[in-house]
Amino acid sequence: MKDHPRELVYLDYPATTPCDSRVFEKMSPYFCTFFGNPHSKNHAHGWIADEAVDDAFASIAECLRVEPREITFTSGASESNILAIRGVMMRYKNSGKNHLITTQTEHKSVLSCCRQLEEEGYSLTYLSVNDQGIIDLNELLDKITDKTLLISIAVVNNETGVIQPMNEIGNICKNKGIYFHTDATQALGKMAIDIKLWNVALASFSSHKVYGPKGIGALYLRKDPAVKIKSFLVGGGQQGGIRGGTIPVPLCVGFGEACKIINENNGAEVEQITRLSGKLVQGILENVPLSKMNGNVENKVPHIVNIIFPFVEGESIAMGLEDICVATGSACSSSQLEPSHVLKAMGVDNVVIQSSIRFGIGRFTTETEIDYTIKKVTDTVQRLRDISPLWDMYNKGVNMEKIKWT
Ligand SMILES: *Cc1c(COP(=O)(O)O)cnc(C)c1O
Repeated sequence: MKDHPRELVYLDYPATTPCDSRVFEKMSPYFCTFFGNPHSKNHAHGWIADEAVDDAFASIAECLRVEPREITFTSGASESNILAIRGVMMRYKNSGKNHLITTQTEHKSVLSCCRQLEEEGYSLTYLSVNDQGIIDLNELLDKITDKTLLISIAVVNNETGVIQPMNEIGNICKNKGIYFHTDATQALGKMAIDIKLWNVALASFSSHKVYGPKGIGALYLRKDPAVKIKSFLVGGGQQGGIRGGTIPVPLCVGFGEACKIINENNGAEVEQITRLSGKLVQGILENVPLSKMNGNVENKVPHIVNIIFPFVEGESIAMGLEDICVATGSACSSSQLEPSHVLKAMGVDNVVIQSSIRFGIGRFTTETEIDYTIKKVTDTVQRLRDISPLWDMYNKGVNMEKIKWT
């Protein structure tokens, strides 16, 4: 293991965040000292663990402004998404409703689940988005039928940071009697989440995107009026049989503490991230000719910034940035070099997608790091363009539109 990752500038917060040391400290006694099974009812070890889990439920519920009994622990947002979507579709299968509406820009964990349901005979609609990454409410209304059971739309897109019109979608769901599920992973701690106002029946969250440990997430399941789901892991009946298996106490405690920190000083943190992100965008757009932001600029969370750098490949920029960790438009999911399905749905040209970089700003980002990044991005793009024949042609006034890209 390399011992110098501390020297790296980490700007990939939408992919994951470091565990906050306060979170880690809070978790630590629950590994070796308070190791009890929270489901053991006959002795103090069980009671201590159970109390810790209860506290975690309370902190998470407070953060989401819901009831603790409306929270189910899962392994992360991917599992929450699948449990919510598949769980609702299968639970109400016999009602005669089998139609699910989602968008083309959802997280892969939602889209892959939807594809599977489609193969199993469910009816699916994937809504388009405009060039700003936002859905068309009229298209949504158009696609609703008397068979529509569930609408699943993420609050915030993880590649562009664009926010969907949650109020409006929620009102439509309420008026039509359709369940509304939202993947709120990138919204938690970054903007006000109003599950009640948005008429959300199910919502997914992940701990490791909010400075908690990896391997734990939450699914919000509305109790009033109640939404029911089919469970796939009844196990020993823990968590009301919705998601069996022994609750991983240290992870729960960590997720709870991460939410507690959000509860305590989120305003200041969001303000700081907004300022640094604004500085980064301004610095790059001013210094790198033709660079441009992807997605709606106003209606977005501050911590995600997606920028295109025409005439250079994102992969080459990312490599050239060396000690700065960013994501590219082509490699957002694992190691595939597929162009991002999100930017594609927004109508961004494949070549342009390949030249995009996602910057993610977070709790531990410093002003110095932002200054360093602006300079290094400017220099790297300049250096790559200096050796790019396309850039040379562009500067000589060749009409680039006429060139056939291969
Ligand atoms: C990271 C992420 C997920 C997956 O979360 P895990 O906890 O890693 O499963 C799902 N949706 C969005 C929007 C994400 O950003």
